[in-house]
Amino acid sequence: MPTIKRQYIKLKRNSPCPCDDNDKRGKPLKYKNCCLKEVQSNEQQIRMLLHHDKRVDKAKKEMDAAIERDNQYVIDHPVIIP
Ligand SMILES: [Zn+2]
Repeated sequence: MPTIKRQYIKLKRNSPCPCDDNDKRGKPLKYKNCCLKEVQSNEQQIRMLLHHDKRVDKAKKEMDAAIERDNQYVIDHPVIIP
């Protein structure tokens, strides 16, 4: 079995960002003020997308159920044209 090494580095929020970005004064940016924000916004986007998928899934199921219900009760009802 080959060992898969994870490409993860333990990063503390207050440690210098691994991307070597500096702030306006030339000091290394802290991770929390740099890439962590991006990571978090990506995570948020993924979470939102997952949430969206779930909602769409639910809507589809509800739609299917509604169509099912409509098929069960086929009623001839007049169309009212204003
Ligand atoms: Zn960074």
